[in-house]
Amino acid sequence: MTRVDVPFGRRAVGARGARAAGVDAAPRAAGAGTLHIDWTRCDGRGLCTELLPELLDRDEWGYPLARTGPGSDVAVPAELARAARQAVALCPRAALRLG
Ligand code: SF4
Repeated sequence: MTRVDVPFGRRAVGARGARAAGVDAAPRAAGAGTLHIDWTRCDGRGLCTELLPELLDRDEWGYPLARTGPGSDVAVPAELARAARQAVALCPRAALRLG
């Protein structure tokens, strides 16, 4: 889960908690890096494929697959950085990570 450092000694919270607390997650620089899918955590319900249809497709069991090729790492272009962060924050199994 994306974590946000909160100043003044408050505990770091996940992005969802940060939004609920009115703290916006710090935007990343241009390009969001790489989205890593941990299929061992994934339950294959496909929420991430609905949030990132440009990057992710589903296999026959519902597990996310990169549209760009095989493997569990997906390059995220800058214009999809926000959607990628949202997918990471909302994944119910913490199976997505941006790096
Ligand atoms: S949102 Fe998370 S648990 Fe759901 S399909 Fe995507 S990676 Fe798997």
